[in-house]
Amino acid sequence: MDDAGTLDRAEQALRTTFGFPHFRGVQGQVVERVLAGRSTLAVMPTGAGKSLTYQLPATLLPGTCIVISPLIALMHDQLRSARMNGIRAAALTSADADRAATVAAFRAGELDLLYVAPERASQPHFRDLLNSAPVALFAVDEAHCVSEWGHDFRPDYRQMRPLMDGFPDVPRLALTATADGHTRADILQQLGIPDEGLIVSGFDRPNIRYLIRPRQNGGSQLKQLLTEQDGAGIIYAPSRKKVDDLAAALDRAGSRRVLPYHAGLSPEQRAEHQAAFVASEDMVMVATVAFGMGIDKPDVRFVAHAGIPKSIEAYYQETGRAGRDGDPAQAIMLWSAGDFVQARQRLSEVEPERLAGERTRLDALAALVEAPGCRRALLLRHFGEDPPASCGNCDNCLSPPGVVDATDLARKLLSAVYRTGQSYGLGHVGKVLTGADDDRVRQRGHDQLSVFGIVDAEEARMLQPVARALQARGSLVANEHGGLLLAGDARAILKGEAEVAIVRPAATERKRTRRGQD
Ligand code: ADP
Ligand code: ZN
Repeated sequence: MDDAGTLDRAEQALRTTFGFPHFRGVQGQVVERVLAGRSTLAVMPTGAGKSLTYQLPATLLPGTCIVISPLIALMHDQLRSARMNGIRAAALTSADADRAATVAAFRAGELDLLYVAPERASQPHFRDLLNSAPVALFAVDEAHCVSEWGHDFRPDYRQMRPLMDGFPDVPRLALTATADGHTRADILQQLGIPDEGLIVSGFDRPNIRYLIRPRQNGGSQLKQLLTEQDGAGIIYAPSRKKVDDLAAALDRAGSRRVLPYHAGLSPEQRAEHQAAFVASEDMVMVATVAFGMGIDKPDVRFVAHAGIPKSIEAYYQETGRAGRDGDPAQAIMLWSAGDFVQARQRLSEVEPERLAGERTRLDALAALVEAPGCRRALLLRHFGEDPPASCGNCDNCLSPPGVVDATDLARKLLSAVYRTGQSYGLGHVGKVLTGADDDRVRQRGHDQLSVFGIVDAEEARMLQPVARALQARGSLVANEHGGLLLAGDARAILKGEAEVAIVRPAATERKRTRRGQD
């Protein structure tokens, strides 16, 4: 498509087909690139309007846009909303009885959009099908599934590159809400998109207030929440059983309608609960993470986590379902040290090549819940932004927690990381600092360093929280093998030009033993 008038035509289609007066955020930029035939990775937070960035070009470009999507439910939601806008869309899944008709429509050039799961798309007969009619665009939704660094790796996504390579003239558009720097670079590579094709939209959701608290008695904390908080809400719980129990208990409490949602319910029940939720202004859905993808409800007023989410990426995606209408909304996480203990135990089941990544993810989450500073600033830094130090709309900004000065210990830690060559994890660095009698320390000659044994038992207890705080503020980062490296303001801390404060660890420890395992 030529440049002149491309954006005009896109803006006209935006109004006439979708009924929106303007592009939002980076939408226009993404659409423009796609219409120019250039492959793109768009990283946009949940609710930013990703589907429009391929649906709109699909209506303008000759040929069909193939949409790779991981979940049948997600496909069908998108299909419904595309069709409501008069877009010619179909899906090829085991749940669609009219597959022969869909194939015929595709061959006849009568489809704007064809949704398909990667498992089907990777089969030879699908490639044959694509050779039988023009393809306008490959849209790869939830593109982080292609990366082992992402939190949702799906091996079949790896087959998309060979498929798309068979159509070198067809542009690619990868979409995700959840990609840190590593994952982004990996997606670009795995899907064959040039580095210059990366478009990242601002991640901040200023209307969401982040509140993260220890879980004391989860049930009564949530009951309390439902009496204080108006509007529709989602409560994520970690298992089907917890979902059922919590939904029943909260429903009995009687302040409003509460329904469960998880993959163990029949498809009819799920559809019914989802429809009730979407239509309601004050219903609460207690759900596993199976709930939420593709649900178009802009007025969700709160999202609560009854236990820790899987990662910061998952947390941001799940909390991002609150307040998509831009009005004030809350994200409340209730965590316990026991959640982390269990999550670390589950690491033993992870394949070796993914272990370091999973551990880093968990450490980042621990840093978030224990951070004394602004939650939003930490989250946005995690996604590669450079936010102001405080936001005024999170629990720590609204009432700063008790903190202690840990600058001295932080300097010792940073110095030990530096002197051991910036390639060891906290375990090894801690042994050096505490002067441990350890073969590996001796083999590396680290018992000869000036930092060997400079930390006493009292300080040793604070090493973990200090390391987490340093990671949280970006002064320490972990490489893909878990090795720690100096970053950010580490040098300023070492030179005594910056201070480090952490949440009072004694209180945290006491809280942990008393409240740890509810
Ligand atoms: P995502 O997939 O990024 O989470 P969706 O594609 O589901 O987001 O879009 C989120 C909501 O924003 C939908 O209700 C959609 O209709 C709406 N939306 C998308 N683009 C625009 C726009 N340009 N102006 C107003 N609303 C929009
Ligand atoms: Zn804040």
